[in-house]
Amino acid sequence: MSPIADPNCLFCKIVAGQVPADRVYEDDSVLAFKDIHPQAPVHLLIIPKVHVATLNDFAPEQRELLAALLLTAQRLAAEHALPGYRVAMNVNKEGGQVIFHAHLHLLGGRPLKGALG
Ligand code: 5GP
Ligand code: ZN
Repeated sequence: MSPIADPNCLFCKIVAGQVPADRVYEDDSVLAFKDIHPQAPVHLLIIPKVHVATLNDFAPEQRELLAALLLTAQRLAAEHALPGYRVAMNVNKEGGQVIFHAHLHLLGGRPLKGALG
């Protein structure tokens, strides 16, 4: 796991404070902030502080980091009193990924249909 931020990566710049974001949670390994184009009343992005491009690029040794992303979603859903919510991670261009710094989307605050669309 590289501790060096990718200078060309938008989310690394957000981690470094070089690009502003509406931060809602932060610990040693994880940062969460509001999505700039929210698809639901609550739409948060949960990212590892280190640069990992996609889900496919997590090493087995980073299992705790991967778990920390989900546990952060759980925590933030509780903090926002969401009775139900969705977590999603787009992987690669074909999977809808636009920013190549892996992130969980946490969506809630409105009824969510079963199909992802
Ligand atoms: P992806 O399609 O890669 O899974 O999702 C990228 C998300 O990042 C999108 O939902 C988009 O609205 C969000 N996003 C893109 N640029 C920025 C930004 O500069 N700040 C914040 N807070 N969100 C961003
Ligand atoms: Zn990055």
